[in-house]
Amino acid sequence: MKENGMKRSERWSRPGLYRHAAGMVTAFAFLALAGTAEAQQSLKPDMLDRVAWGAKPALPGMRPHKPYSIIVHHTAVRQNAKTSLAAKLRGLQSFSQSQRKMSDGRSLPPWPDLPYHYYIGADGTVGEGRDVNFAGDTNTKYDPTGHVQVVLEGNFEIEQPTAEQIEALKKVLVWQAARWKVPISTITVHRDHAGTACPGKNLAALMPKILHDLDPNYRPAAGKKTKLKKKKEDQ
Ligand SMILES: [Zn+2]
Repeated sequence: MKENGMKRSERWSRPGLYRHAAGMVTAFAFLALAGTAEAQQSLKPDMLDRVAWGAKPALPGMRPHKPYSIIVHHTAVRQNAKTSLAAKLRGLQSFSQSQRKMSDGRSLPPWPDLPYHYYIGADGTVGEGRDVNFAGDTNTKYDPTGHVQVVLEGNFEIEQPTAEQIEALKKVLVWQAARWKVPISTITVHRDHAGTACPGKNLAALMPKILHDLDPNYRPAAGKKTKLKKKKEDQ
């Protein structure tokens, strides 16, 4: 049987093969770990969980889903070192669960809970958001079902993520990728899905390096869609 028109000897003598194999080691290292609950637990970063930050229960209307992808966001609000992460999470939950007054004058119905599953504060502390077994929420036009939503505190149109945030983001991505068997190469940012500036040009510019650090085999897709910003909505 012909295999891609190449003889077996030709396939295995391809000069790129060994380099390719070496590059896959890191990616496979955690994917191989993904099989056991113990291994997934070992990848879990330290986290301010919902009990620790004083979360209220989710409201009715949560939609169960099984994640197959991960999307990175920014809060579009400048980093604020003076407020504790717990207070920020309580504030975001309170906003999410009420009639949401938008900057353009719209008043939107409550969400059942925070729109994001994991929130990374400016100091790199990770907070637990919505239960990851339920789809997130968005003000933009795409279906959040099946996506793990990870947000970094900051407005990365005008400021930079901190080194601590980048390190925490890598930990969350590796953990969630292993947990749901999401290839690192398929991790995206919000503006890949909808008309938004999110996660801001400064974080968007860092994403290829971040993903390459997690999987040396990662290459940014040529012509990958990066829709131009149309509005400031981030969620
Ligand atoms: Zn976003």
